[in-house]
Amino acid sequence: MDYVDLDARINGLTGVISPARYLEHLPQVMDDLPCGARAFATDPDHYSFSSKRCTKDLKLRQLSLPSAEEPDAEAHFRHNCWKHDEDLTIRYTDVTDFRIGIPHGPASEDPGTVILDEILPHEDGCSHEVAFRPGTLYVVCRDLTATWVETDCPDAQRG
Ligand SMILES: [Zn+2]
Repeated sequence: MDYVDLDARINGLTGVISPARYLEHLPQVMDDLPCGARAFATDPDHYSFSSKRCTKDLKLRQLSLPSAEEPDAEAHFRHNCWKHDEDLTIRYTDVTDFRIGIPHGPASEDPGTVILDEILPHEDGCSHEVAFRPGTLYVVCRDLTATWVETDCPDAQRG
């Protein structure tokens, strides 16, 4: 993460998660983002912690990795019942870099819950970095499309 601060110090408190520096930086780079990435990054709900469409607290459920035949990747994030009422799917087109890091355990292991994510322009299109508790996902692609989809969870609030 270049701008999102996972260990900010605010009013004497440490370990505060803060997108403030990223949100300050975003207007300067937003025109350099491809359109799908720009829409996702600038969605006012994205970094609003109380929003139902905030990425914080989502859980990674499934990843389809890019390959020589299929240069696109897809990540499915499951909602967290107490917060979201939809799941999130992100499709990455023409992936040129894809890294997943899980400090303890095999790559197939659940990287955990999303802390926050950061989208930045890249010479190939854009980069999307997701910090989990405790893993990371880093993708460079031509563009990404983020879609909130209805969940089949019986506990989801409908309404
Ligand atoms: Zn649920």
